[in-house]
Amino acid sequence: MKTAIFFERDGILNVPVLAGQSQIVPVTLDQFKINKQALPALEHLKAAGFVLIATTNQPGLSNGLLARRELDRMHDLLRRALPLDDIFVCPHDQADGCPCRKPEPGMFTEAAFKWQLDLEHSFVISDKWQDARAARAVGLTSMMLQSPWIGSGHHDFVIPTLPGIADKIIRMQTGHLAA
Ligand SMILES: [Zn+2]
Repeated sequence: MKTAIFFERDGILNVPVLAGQSQIVPVTLDQFKINKQALPALEHLKAAGFVLIATTNQPGLSNGLLARRELDRMHDLLRRALPLDDIFVCPHDQADGCPCRKPEPGMFTEAAFKWQLDLEHSFVISDKWQDARAARAVGLTSMMLQSPWIGSGHHDFVIPTLPGIADKIIRMQTGHLAA
């Protein structure tokens, strides 16, 4: 089975637009700024053999604030800029009660089925508590980038930088293979 790294999109792969203490989700291509500093970390993890997958809650698709065509343009850009293997989107609003809107783990289980993933040896990288909760529900290890949004619930590791997270994952993977 393969192992994967799941990346929260906003705040990890693209630079968040901030309004006070909140992240504003980009709704046009102009607002979508790739986090170019993420590239070396992703290349490092790709070279280590991980499948790289982005996941994102985009309720704007349901409530009309985000056009599907605009989202597709953003994700074309994202795929060109970073070595991602796949992108999973939850298009639902909270009121829909779907199984894929994080903190529900549906995007992780869907990806595990599609890519034949060993979730116990896979990781989630995020700056938000919703990913940590979803990760825990399916046995993924949560690697949180230090941020105001990680909350006080369970997470496995909190690390101040993305390169630091990538190094930690590689060290843990090496330990696993040696065991
Ligand atoms: Zn959903």
